[in-house]
Amino acid sequence: MRRALMAGNWKMNKTIPEAIALLSGLKERIGDIRSADIVVCPPFTALSSAASILKGSNIELGAQDVFWKEKGAYTGEISVPMLIDVGCRYCLIGHSERRTYFGETDETVNMKVKAVLKGGLTPIMCVGETLEERRNGKTFEVVGRQVRGGLLDLAPEEIGRVVIAYEPVWAIGTGINAEPQQANEVHAFIAGLLEDLAGKGISDSVRILYGGSVTPDNVISLMSEPRIDGVLVGGASLDADSFSSIVRDGVSAHLSKNRGG
Ligand code: PEP
Repeated sequence: MRRALMAGNWKMNKTIPEAIALLSGLKERIGDIRSADIVVCPPFTALSSAASILKGSNIELGAQDVFWKEKGAYTGEISVPMLIDVGCRYCLIGHSERRTYFGETDETVNMKVKAVLKGGLTPIMCVGETLEERRNGKTFEVVGRQVRGGLLDLAPEEIGRVVIAYEPVWAIGTGINAEPQQANEVHAFIAGLLEDLAGKGISDSVRILYGGSVTPDNVISLMSEPRIDGVLVGGASLDADSFSSIVRDGVSAHLSKNRGG
C-alpha cells in the first residue's frame, strides 16, 4: 500500500507570526497522525521559523520552488543545499502558477527535479491541463508531455523517489474540483506512463496526489479513489481547522480503501 501524502501549499501567504500561529494550530489538531506523511510548504521567508516549530513533530517541511544551480550569481534564487540547510524534505516543482507567471517549462522542471533528487529531497512535480486543453480533448496529451518532459533522463530508481501532483489548472483556486473519477482516470494514465518509463514495481510505489479546490467536503470522495494517494491543498491549507479536517478525513478514507472497506 502507498502511504498517503497530504500537502499544503501556502503560496505567497503568511508572515512569520501568522505562520507560527497556523503551525501551532496544526500541531494541536493533527500532531498525532503517524499513518501518513503530512507536509506544509510555507513561503521561503517563513521556512526557518517553521522548521523550529515543527522540530520533532510529524509535520514535515517543503519549499514551493527551487533553482537548479547549487550556488553562484543568480540573484533572488534559492538552491537545494539552502533548502536542506533550513530543514526542508520536499520541494514543489512546476506548479501551474510558476508555469503561467514565471515561464517554467518542462525543461526547467526537469532540471529542478534532477537537482532536488541529487540533493536528497523529494520533488513533488506538478502537472495538469488548462480548461481549453480539456475541452479540446487534449488532457492526456498535455499531461503525458509534462510527465515525460519532467522525468526526462531519470533512472528508474530516481523516478521511484518522485511524487507527482495532478492539478488541473481549471480546478486550482476556482472552487471547482475535478470529479473524483475524472481525477482518478488521469492518475491511472500517469501510473501507466510511469510503468512505461520505470517498470511496474516502481510505478506501483510512486504516489500521485490530486490538487485543485480540495476542501473538507470533497476530500473523502477524492481519497476513496484507488489511484489518488494524497492531496495538494492550496486555499484550504491556510486555515488550521480546514487543513486538519482534510488530513484526518483524507487519511482515514485512504486507510479504509486499502483495507477494502
Ligand atoms: C494549489 O495551488 O496547489 C491548489 C491546489 O490550490 P487550491 O487548493 O486553492 O485550488
